[in-house]
Amino acid sequence: MKKIVVIGEILVEIMADTPGHGFREAQALTGPFPSGAPAIFAAQAARIGQPVAIVSAVGDDDFGRLNLDRLARDGVDVSGVHVDPHRPTGSAFVRYRGDGGRDFVFNIRHSACGHLHDTPAVRSVLASADHLHVMGSSLASPEFVARNMAAAEAVRDHGGTISFDPNLRKEILAAPGMAEAMSRIVSMTDLYLPSGDELTLLTEAQTDVTAIGELLDRGVRAIVHKRGADGAGYHDAHHDLSIPAFEVTEVDPTGAGDCFGATFTALWLRGVPPKSALQTAAASGAHAVTRRGPMEGTADLATLEDFIRAQEADR
Ligand code: ATP
Ligand code: MG
Repeated sequence: MKKIVVIGEILVEIMADTPGHGFREAQALTGPFPSGAPAIFAAQAARIGQPVAIVSAVGDDDFGRLNLDRLARDGVDVSGVHVDPHRPTGSAFVRYRGDGGRDFVFNIRHSACGHLHDTPAVRSVLASADHLHVMGSSLASPEFVARNMAAAEAVRDHGGTISFDPNLRKEILAAPGMAEAMSRIVSMTDLYLPSGDELTLLTEAQTDVTAIGELLDRGVRAIVHKRGADGAGYHDAHHDLSIPAFEVTEVDPTGAGDCFGATFTALWLRGVPPKSALQTAAASGAHAVTRRGPMEGTADLATLEDFIRAQEADR
């Protein structure tokens, strides 16, 4: 089986128990939960049996150990995770607002995972990659862009493939050189996984249909368009598929896109036909939102197949 490598942040997430605005008064919190978009992606890929490694760093603290223990238990290769004795593990405090928006207090840039390491262990993990998954949330500085680009070039030189989830925040795109860098990564991408209006953000085209045409012309082989509770689509030179979302009660939306992306990418690497991969990925995203905590809704293949059967029986 092909091995996936992902480079990026490992964090803990600590969640406010009540909806409201931010953290300006004392309140009840739940956590720490293991988190970080690339870490959630890696955990979900491992849970469905795909060989996968993450390149990152954590502090020599309980937040780091919590993450390393979880990732290792799920089967993620953590040999490329540097334990930094000088910086704490990254963190995100999050509180949901009544309207579904979120307020965050982040400690990422000055945390362990905000710094790159080029240790022999990291080099050996990168050399073992058949596939690189690039997470837009991890492209937070020119250094991280450069590292992902170099890794993508090396993987492609060895005949490997690239997937890219832009996970765009407009502030990131506004940073000098970032839109160009993102666009260069799109040009190296085999499997593109935008969500909502991210589909047109890195194209000249203004509409979904023309953006899909433009991306395929630029060499992207397959596009998976995530649309939250509205479902998902799949587009390549031969297919235009669209499926509805499974009906579930959303408890916590964080992590849905990462779980969906990991499941789709792993099945795509195995050559599973797009319709079936899309269905299983949608089950993975739907399952993720039913659990509180960003990484708590990951699931193995048997669980996802049972979930699909139960949903179909209900229809
Ligand atoms: P993230 O916030 O993690 O970045 P995203 O925007 O990348 O998420 P979404 O479109 O929110 O990704 O979710 C990915 C997929 O998961 C959707 O296409 C859908 O199939 C499934 N999904 C997400 N939210 C729900 C929901 N509330 N109910 C059912 N399925 C959902
Ligand atoms: Mg996303």
